Amino acid sequence: MSAETVKQKTFRRLMGYIKPYRAAFFFSIVGMLGYAAVDTFFLSQIQTLIDDGLTDSDPKILIYGAIFVPVIFVLRGLFNFISTYFLNWVGFRVVTTMRQQLFDHMVKLPVSFHDRHSTGDLLSKVTYTTQQVAEATSRAVLILIREGAYVIGLLALMFYHSWQLSLVFLLIGPVIAKIVAVVSKRFRKVSSRIQNAMGDVTTTAEQMLNGHKVVVMYEGQKRESKRFETVTNITRNQNMKLINAQTLSTSVIQLIASFSLSMVLVLASYPQMLEQLTAGAFTTMLTAMIMLLRPLKQLTTVNSDFQRGIAAAQSIFSILDEKAEDDSGKKQLDRARGEISFEHVTFHYDATESPALKDVSFRVAPGKTLALVGRSGSGKSTISNLLARFYTPQQGVIKLDDTNIYDYKLKSLRRQFALVSQHVTLFNDSIANNIAYGARGEVTQERLREVAELAYVTEFTDNLPNGLNTMVGENGVMLSGGQRQRIAIARALLRDAPILILDEATSALDTESERHIQTALQTLQKNRTSIVIAHRLSTIEKADEILVLEDGAVIERGNHQQLLEQEGAYYQLYSLQFSGELG
Ligand code: ADP
Ligand code: MG
Repeated sequence: MSAETVKQKTFRRLMGYIKPYRAAFFFSIVGMLGYAAVDTFFLSQIQTLIDDGLTDSDPKILIYGAIFVPVIFVLRGLFNFISTYFLNWVGFRVVTTMRQQLFDHMVKLPVSFHDRHSTGDLLSKVTYTTQQVAEATSRAVLILIREGAYVIGLLALMFYHSWQLSLVFLLIGPVIAKIVAVVSKRFRKVSSRIQNAMGDVTTTAEQMLNGHKVVVMYEGQKRESKRFETVTNITRNQNMKLINAQTLSTSVIQLIASFSLSMVLVLASYPQMLEQLTAGAFTTMLTAMIMLLRPLKQLTTVNSDFQRGIAAAQSIFSILDEKAEDDSGKKQLDRARGEISFEHVTFHYDATESPALKDVSFRVAPGKTLALVGRSGSGKSTISNLLARFYTPQQGVIKLDDTNIYDYKLKSLRRQFALVSQHVTLFNDSIANNIAYGARGEVTQERLREVAELAYVTEFTDNLPNGLNTMVGENGVMLSGGQRQRIAIARALLRDAPILILDEATSALDTESERHIQTALQTLQKNRTSIVIAHRLSTIEKADEILVLEDGAVIERGNHQQLLEQEGAYYQLYSLQFSGELG
């Protein structure tokens, strides 16, 4: 597809956003046309003022003029208000719609999409790029219609007075058009570069803000500052290029216009011409020509604004066109029995060459516990990722209750899991609401309190003045790693899903609290299927089956006793930890 048709498509799609607000859009256009008409009309009265008022010395005309001027300006203000108000009204509606769409779509996009895109980049699309679409296109529309109509009005006025002189002005039209075309091509390129550069600015800032502690700890201030300087300088450079092109083209266009003005003066000096023109008509002609320069100059930027808007819209549409998570499964599932099986599952992440899982098979009967052990990077978390359909295996089948998990509706499937992982995400809300996040149905205060107690959350909240209603702050910054994990465990307890996945769920806890919570987790595991990934092997001794993973492959399997007797990899890991704990 050529660039032109892509642009046209983008434009048509953008128009679709305005469609629901066409009445308001129409009003704003009426305002713009009215504004241009008032200005043209005002100018047309110069002749009357000079010829009838001054040359013929008619004081009545001057008095009329005194009344006429304020009325004109009231009208002008009114039209200006109407056009600006309604145009912005539509613009902000479009921005809001786009932002919401982006937000809603980003939630639906697969995990692999989020792996590929930086948060800063996506944030800048939601905040900056959407704003660009509205700002740039509204400006373009405003200038195109208001100033365009004004140009037409002025030209009509000029032709009315002397078509011969006006023709001169028309000769330069094509020249100006050519310059605009060349310049706008450049604008398009630079604008899309600016948008990308803005994404880098937010990404870099975001990295520093998120990793602030690491930066100051490892003396990365200079490096981060340098990195930021580079990206902001790129945006500055590109913006300057845009300004340069804009200013240069304006000056050239004005120069050309000034030539035509001097040509008009030469032509007017011919006696036949002088006879035809009254003083008023000649003044009107000259004023109109000078007046033309401003709208003409503005019209040359229409294209750049428009290109900016289109480039911004294109970048937003490209996100909206990303395929959402596959949800073609039809089966509903209210509550699973909890039988899980992996059959020869092989999987590699998009970016990596070597598979993260190689031919993994296992079966967990309902209510039983499967433990996964192995070095970090051996593929343990990948198993839970696949189970929740965050990623799709390239080979093999994963089943829940004897049905391929891809046959279920996503909602039905994910509802079956409660996941506690080493990365706890807390929302900027109260601890109670964080625990209740993801719980289905009504949550009573008693039940909330109960799970909070079971997960030892109350142990630290009871010392806080607001108890469970304490705000956790952005991403739980006010809490320790262990406290956050306890909240996550309480959340999982409350969710009461048939399958529990504990991915190093207690890794941030000290041995003492872990022992307490272990009791809570064991109660929780009783009547549900669990997959437990643990660093400390002491926590999985009771598992029904243990899989030992290495480089994505299952190298040993059995229960604790059997594996110890084998004296293989598990035995080694175990003795290593055991001696470590003693020493
Ligand atoms: P574990 O949980 O056992 O520590 P993981 O299952 O997280 O290991 O990772 C298994 C392998 O897959 C590792 O080599 C890791 O680098 C890779 N990996 C994990 N997540 C991703 C990802 N989102 N994109 C690409 N590779 C990944
Ligand atoms: Mg892991």
